[in-house]
Amino acid sequence: MNVISTVVGYPYIGLKREWKRIIERFWKNELTEHEFEAELKQLRIDRLKHQQDLGLEYITVGDFTKYDRMLDLAVMFNLIPKRYDVLENPTKNELYYAMARGAKDVVACEMTKWFNTNYHYIVPEYEGQKLSLQRNDILDQFLEARDEVGIITKPTIIGPYTFVDLAKGYDEKEKALFILQLIPLYAQVINELTEAGAEWIQIEEPSFTKNLPIEEIQLIEEIYKQLCKLTPHAKLLVQTYFESLFAYERLIQLPVDGFGLDFVHDNKQNLKSIQKFGFPKNKTLSIGVINGRDIWSVNFAEAVSIINSVKQLTNIENIWISSSCSLQHVPVSKNMEEKLPKELFDHLAFADEKIREIAHITHFMQKGSWLKEGLVANSMKVIQALATHPVRQNKRVEKALANLTPMDFKRSVSYKERQQIQKEALKLPDFPTTTIGSFPQSTEVKKTRSAWRKGEISDAQYAQFLKEETARWIQIQEEIGLDVLVHGEFERTDMVEYFGEHLTGFSFTDFGWVVSYGSRCVKPPIIYGDVEWTHPMTVKEVVEAQKLTDKYVKGMLTGPVTILNWSFVRNDLSREKVALQIGYALRQEVEALEKAGIKIIQVDEPALREGLPLRKENWADYLRWAVDAFKLTTSNVATDTQIHTHMCYCEFNDFIDPIKSLDADVISLETSRSHGELIHSLKENPYELGIGLGVYDIHSPRVPSVEEMLTIIQESLAVIPKEQFWINPDCGLKTRQETETVASLKNMVAAAQVLRKQV
Ligand code: GLN
Ligand code: ZN
Repeated sequence: MNVISTVVGYPYIGLKREWKRIIERFWKNELTEHEFEAELKQLRIDRLKHQQDLGLEYITVGDFTKYDRMLDLAVMFNLIPKRYDVLENPTKNELYYAMARGAKDVVACEMTKWFNTNYHYIVPEYEGQKLSLQRNDILDQFLEARDEVGIITKPTIIGPYTFVDLAKGYDEKEKALFILQLIPLYAQVINELTEAGAEWIQIEEPSFTKNLPIEEIQLIEEIYKQLCKLTPHAKLLVQTYFESLFAYERLIQLPVDGFGLDFVHDNKQNLKSIQKFGFPKNKTLSIGVINGRDIWSVNFAEAVSIINSVKQLTNIENIWISSSCSLQHVPVSKNMEEKLPKELFDHLAFADEKIREIAHITHFMQKGSWLKEGLVANSMKVIQALATHPVRQNKRVEKALANLTPMDFKRSVSYKERQQIQKEALKLPDFPTTTIGSFPQSTEVKKTRSAWRKGEISDAQYAQFLKEETARWIQIQEEIGLDVLVHGEFERTDMVEYFGEHLTGFSFTDFGWVVSYGSRCVKPPIIYGDVEWTHPMTVKEVVEAQKLTDKYVKGMLTGPVTILNWSFVRNDLSREKVALQIGYALRQEVEALEKAGIKIIQVDEPALREGLPLRKENWADYLRWAVDAFKLTTSNVATDTQIHTHMCYCEFNDFIDPIKSLDADVISLETSRSHGELIHSLKENPYELGIGLGVYDIHSPRVPSVEEMLTIIQESLAVIPKEQFWINPDCGLKTRQETETVASLKNMVAAAQVLRKQV
């Protein structure tokens, strides 16, 4: 049997986010086009050599981008929306970045989540354009590796089905035409690569792991029949990831030469499918046995046992040992981390460490012995060391969770009754106005925080500054005439990090960046131990703010599911259990806020939807515990304490029932980007609790007029009774400037006043 090591893809951001810096310097005109290309080229070459040094045999190209790989393909295929015609003779890069980020007179393409990850891709827009192959970026990367590094790499390309599946702008009839035009272009890309010496081409088809109706399966079969016919000399490996291959027994028969499957997620369903249906003898199998979505080192014995099961169940000649998906979803290397607890550090594996694991496993499969003695035992030892670490032995948390009863997850009276009681208790006007929580993180706020972090100013000075900034904004909010005020969240850099820093069980890396969209990277916290609430985290700020005004000040927390979904999570406990631990910790914060006299408390859950499994059959189970975690946080309050929640960045149309089941007294939703669709859904599925549909888009500095907001509100009022109606922006305002924020909110309050006069 032939065994080689590979990965689906490797991070492109660089060890120290060099990639981001190069791109952002180019945007600021600090680099000429020539310098920009040269620096990126160097980065690509270093990156290939680095993977070689790590011991990887079959290195991938085409996993590098200047912004986003879906956008790369759209531009390659000339899928340029007409609105970019306003750009006069743009250079390639100007056009590309205009589509990515917008330009002076033209808005950017839509951006949305890449499957169930926190990465966002640019959505290709089909407008019936005549498609053609403008350039072959993947070939360029292949040639660069061949000629400058001297290696034959494996080019990867997002496959035609997934590309079309994730694009928009076509109906069922146009879809066929769209795909028919694309197939020859894909074939051309592939044939050029094959002619240049590529042995294998990896075609990424993550959409094959979604629920596929029979017509879609037939469509996939047709696409691949045609594509394979047009590329007779190429060897294609279809790579799927994140979940198991859907309709395995059929799709595994596609006329390609190999498959890459995820053997980590979805309860190892792919392994079960092999058990049941076998695997075609003449195809190559890439075994994704190293988890590309988590940061934990592998248990070598377990990985080898999976591979051996595959070996026993099939008769295949060729296997690749690989990652379950591209390693772009994990940070580059743990080597630079100096402050992490030893037991945690030892058990971490970022992209580089994962490549080493792949190399080790491959060596073992090739030679029957381990490259280093004690590797297997050591992999067990680091797992054990963390398992028995006190941070994972919190008996108080264990006991508290074991003692929970169904009553702990339920408000004591129904929403209808609460609505009446809260109305009398809070005495808010009709169409109450509020914001989502954060106010501008001005240069001054950021500068002061950084001075404090560096020790240039004292804790007391920093606290004083925050207090003054809140006081200033309380006054501004009063002048604007808002009804429910907020303290402004100036103490928070990030809505998850802030809570992680105060709860037990979290750790933070210095360089653990992963790309979130474009050049933006995030550094997710690591939940590695039991999560416990030990002290109030938000009470002081909110109570101080409340003292300054007669209006209500909302308490502001990040919800348990969002904290979970935006962190790297321990893998020795189910996500459900971790969510409940966080939920229980936040419940104590809610209690502390309430005890301190706060009557309105908001628990944000912007990431609730993104945790949904890809397969619909698994939704119910996730929603059961996710909703439970939220309700555990929010249920133990008096009837006249009003619980708010907030969600953004997501589609709500098929999500109204889960939102209802949170039983929050008020929800604010981001809607300005998909307002019409949501109104339609709410017509079909009326919402009975308090709700504020964002009346303006906070992503733009533009100040919307009163009339504009009134139009949006009037449309919303057609589906939401006025008693339930709140008025708020789409999301927090921390990225905005003060002037536009104040002007927009004044118009928003003016709109509410117009409405109050009308009734
Ligand atoms: N309360 C947070 C804020 O206003 C909510 C952020 C979010 O929804 N992403 O910034
Ligand atoms: Zn939001």
